[in-house]
Amino acid sequence: MSTINTLEELLVDELRDLHNAETQLVKALPKMAKAASNEKLREGFEEHLEQTKGHVERLERAFVLLDESPKGKTCHAMKGLVEEGEEAIDLEAPEAIRDADLIGAAQRVEHYEIAAYGTARAFAKTLGLQDVAELLQETLDEEGETNKKLTALAGAVNKEAEAVNVDADAE
Ligand code: FE
Ligand code: FE
Repeated sequence: MSTINTLEELLVDELRDLHNAETQLVKALPKMAKAASNEKLREGFEEHLEQTKGHVERLERAFVLLDESPKGKTCHAMKGLVEEGEEAIDLEAPEAIRDADLIGAAQRVEHYEIAAYGTARAFAKTLGLQDVAELLQETLDEEGETNKKLTALAGAVNKEAEAVNVDADAE
């Protein structure tokens, strides 16, 4: 059991959780990209991998500002989300169906990150840590954009996935 006595300590704890979450994603995203059949989806995962490396770096800059270490926490939520991503990767299904599942898994990840960065940014703002809050806002914006891109891609991929069913019915 750990003890936290101040809001700043709680912020550091949240940032350690996020640092671990982003590090897990740096390992998971190449596998998601490899499993994607839709070219835009694969490119999207590759692009977000590069962004995610930047998210790790931004968090490390925040730790420098706070004079703290990023180490010492496991993000159990991201572990679970990555496991669900692996279920999508391993799914035996037509390509478009697997892609739709991969998008679902990726959007769960983005929503988790959006919630976590929003919380951490609010703590930083309350504490008057403007430079930390700004770093978190930059990443939050990129997570939001990624989520929107996934929603747009789902529009096309879900239709392809639906057409797979139609083909099966026609046989
Ligand atoms: Fe991220
Ligand atoms: Fe992300």
